[in-house]
Amino acid sequence: MTNNMFFIANWKMFGDLRALNSTKKVIKISKKHKFKKIQIIYCPPYTLINQFVKNTKNSKIKVGAQNCHYLDGDGPYTGKINSNLLKSIGAKYVILGHSENRAEGDTNYIINKKIKSALKKKLKIIFCFGETLSEKRNKKTSSVLRSQLTKCLKGINSNNNIIFAYEPVWSIGTGIIPRIDQLEQKIIYIKKLIKKNLKFKSSIILYGGSVNPKNINELKKITTINGFLVGGSSQNAKNFIDIIKKTIN
Ligand code: PEP
Repeated sequence: MTNNMFFIANWKMFGDLRALNSTKKVIKISKKHKFKKIQIIYCPPYTLINQFVKNTKNSKIKVGAQNCHYLDGDGPYTGKINSNLLKSIGAKYVILGHSENRAEGDTNYIINKKIKSALKKKLKIIFCFGETLSEKRNKKTSSVLRSQLTKCLKGINSNNNIIFAYEPVWSIGTGIIPRIDQLEQKIIYIKKLIKKNLKFKSSIILYGGSVNPKNINELKKITTINGFLVGGSSQNAKNFIDIIKKTIN
């Protein structure tokens, strides 16, 4: 495991005001010396962002959103949230390119526009990408990853504000994780792609997909991974803390 590990909690469409109480434990442990080198980022639903920002004020936990519109200016877009609005309530990060949003119409082109708009407003990006099960079965993984990376990050010259999250779609919410040796090879491949095709010198790469307290001891063996994007297991503070503790111990 590398130093400065990232643990990102994607709460998806879960969590009401009461759910915030459960994060108090996470805030408390994040202040301990032992956790000095880790970065925890919570991405709750939009409705909780502002309260999360207030609750985590005296900690080093950061707060992000799970998506944003591709326009950064105001406009007649009912139900949408832009990067400017997110910034104004204290969000520091935004997840973009998540497969659940790709499934609802986010193309590589739109994701590219969203990334540019969020960077313009000085939000940091958690950029998700990964192959579907049918792409994997048809041996298209490498070309899909290459295409997502190059198209979504077209015209972006620096990755200072981008965290890459490799999330095989077939692993999200299924309880299935890739074989450790294969995942390790994928991360190496992705790092090379980022260097060669995007010309970024170094990159922070996380793995996401069914990370839980049971499989974390296996996943943490991959030395090239810089952390984890955790969905389902992050909604339960005990499980999330377990994942963090097991990773760094
Ligand atoms: C995710 O939605 O980004 C994710 C990783 O979900 P889960 O951990 O539930 O598979």
